[in-house]
Amino acid sequence: MTNAAFATPTSTHVEPIPVAAILPWAVFAGLMLLLTVYFVGAEEGATSLIGGSFVHEFVHDGRHLLGFPCH
Ligand SMILES: [Zn+2]
Repeated sequence: MTNAAFATPTSTHVEPIPVAAILPWAVFAGLMLLLTVYFVGAEEGATSLIGGSFVHEFVHDGRHLLGFPCH
C-alpha cells in the first residue's frame, strides 16, 4: 500500500536567492519603512512637509499606538 499524500520529497535542496535579486526590494522596503516612520512620527509642526493637519490626523491613532509624542 502506498500513501502518496504523505510521501516525503526525494530532494530538499532549495536554491538560494541571490543577494543581487533581493537588494532592490530590500532598499525599496527600507525606504517605505522610513517614509512610514516619518509620516507617523514626525509629520507635524516644524518638521511637516505637507501643509495642514490631514496627514497627522490620518496617522494619529498609529502615532499613539507606537508611542510617538503627540499632545
Ligand atoms: Zn495625539
